[in-house]
Amino acid sequence: MDMDRSKPLLSRRRLLTGTAVAAVPGVLFSGSRAVAQSGVVDYPTAEWQPASTSNSTASDRPLSYTVDRVIIHVTQETYGDTLAIFMNPQKRVSAHYVVRSADGHIAQCVHETDIAWHAGNWDYNTRSVGIEHEGWVDRPTYFTDALYEQSAQLTAAICARYGIPRDREHIIGHYQVPGSDHTDPGPDWDWVRYIRLVNFA
Ligand SMILES: [Zn+2]
Repeated sequence: MDMDRSKPLLSRRRLLTGTAVAAVPGVLFSGSRAVAQSGVVDYPTAEWQPASTSNSTASDRPLSYTVDRVIIHVTQETYGDTLAIFMNPQKRVSAHYVVRSADGHIAQCVHETDIAWHAGNWDYNTRSVGIEHEGWVDRPTYFTDALYEQSAQLTAAICARYGIPRDREHIIGHYQVPGSDHTDPGPDWDWVRYIRLVNFA
């Protein structure tokens, strides 16, 4: 009797979960995936959303290269479109992490041991962890409290892992990469606030 009753309950629950997840993938997956894939991601609460392996270089950092920079980007795309671009093997671009504007949810797309292609400079790709933030350089409303806070906690964890100083010499914008013609994260990114959050995370 108990067994018989549990079956339809169980399957109905599965169906509901599946439906809800399809409607709002990132939000509802974040908790369960963090548990299920804690061995996959480098940051425990990140959701694993792997980039195509054609868009990064397999490596063995920090043995192969010293990691001494965090590079801050703004996507100029939506969160979803950014993940899709990274999954497309023809795009030849990736970052280790993407932070979603509305809630600060974090996707990890490339393992930190590997070299993501985000800086447009091979030396800086080899030595850095790249974090993309959903938004546009000229639309500061995308830089929400949640985005700053969650990103700062991620950067603090990266700095702790590799012994990277939590300052503007080592936490840099894409625009500071030698040879870069990119402007991100742009003049509306609040560096003073961000570095403060990283230090007090
Ligand atoms: Zn960039």
